[in-house]
Amino acid sequence: MGSVVVSVDAELGWGFVDFESPPEDRVESARSGWRTLCRLFEAYDVPATWAVVGHLFHESCDGRHPDHPAGPAWFAPERDLWGDRPDLTCGPELIERVRKSGPDHEIGCHTYSHVLFGDDGTTSEVAAAELSRCRALADEWGIDLTSFVFPRNEVGHREQLAEHGFEAYRGSRPVPRRSLPEKLKTVAFGTGAPPIVTPAVDDHGLVNVPASLFLYSFEGIALRATKPVVGDPVVELVERGLDAAAEGDGVLHLWLHPNNLVGAPQVRRIEAVLRAIDARREEVPVETMAEVAARTRGEPRTVATD
Ligand SMILES: [Zn+2]
Ligand SMILES: [Zn+2]
Repeated sequence: MGSVVVSVDAELGWGFVDFESPPEDRVESARSGWRTLCRLFEAYDVPATWAVVGHLFHESCDGRHPDHPAGPAWFAPERDLWGDRPDLTCGPELIERVRKSGPDHEIGCHTYSHVLFGDDGTTSEVAAAELSRCRALADEWGIDLTSFVFPRNEVGHREQLAEHGFEAYRGSRPVPRRSLPEKLKTVAFGTGAPPIVTPAVDDHGLVNVPASLFLYSFEGIALRATKPVVGDPVVELVERGLDAAAEGDGVLHLWLHPNNLVGAPQVRRIEAVLRAIDARREEVPVETMAEVAARTRGEPRTVATD
């Protein structure tokens, strides 16, 4: 019997800290999307892994970060563009909302300030600084961070994750071999299903729980525009993924950002996804990344090499 995991990249403005002009609709939907997600997870009793940007634990911040090795430029939007918008850079009450929620959510980590771990310019000193700040802040809240989600899913500095006590991360979505990009699209969004992933212990002792499907991909939108189908094609993909998970013993790992909920159609999509998950929960139980990691360590299967 397989399972389904939903992970949430919870970041407010930080997801766009390196954008020259952050997309306003996404940025302005971050808080409302967060609360809507909490409400919907409660309505369908679905626990998720919330990978939270550590800076959101702060009540307030002057944006200076003199001791952070990423340097002052990284934090420039916090001081300038969002200088009068602490609601985009801090959010302890939102974390509290998740913590007090009905379903037993996991609170995980999405770096401290959305530094890209896969970027060549990101030194281990910077990665370590990001992780140790998150750990210290979460400790104050009595939260033990176990799972990690890489910004933009760019994997890097896994040895630092292991050193800072993390146990699991969301790896890249597996890409079938010998497939051209066009063919991939057909596999993912035509008649196929999203990949059912096999969590595995990597060479750092971390459990990689790869992504199966980003719920708000551009491909999904493109398909909707070009192929009139009844219902939402992404929900259809999730249904097929649940079928596949029920038949095998892997994980259907779905993910999204609260700021993807920019309007009613996007809210309808996640609600339909959660309804589908709820309807199939006897055959396909819902797990958090931490639960998958614990289970995988208990019964190690294959060892990932990448
Ligand atoms: Zn700050
Ligand atoms: Zn992110």
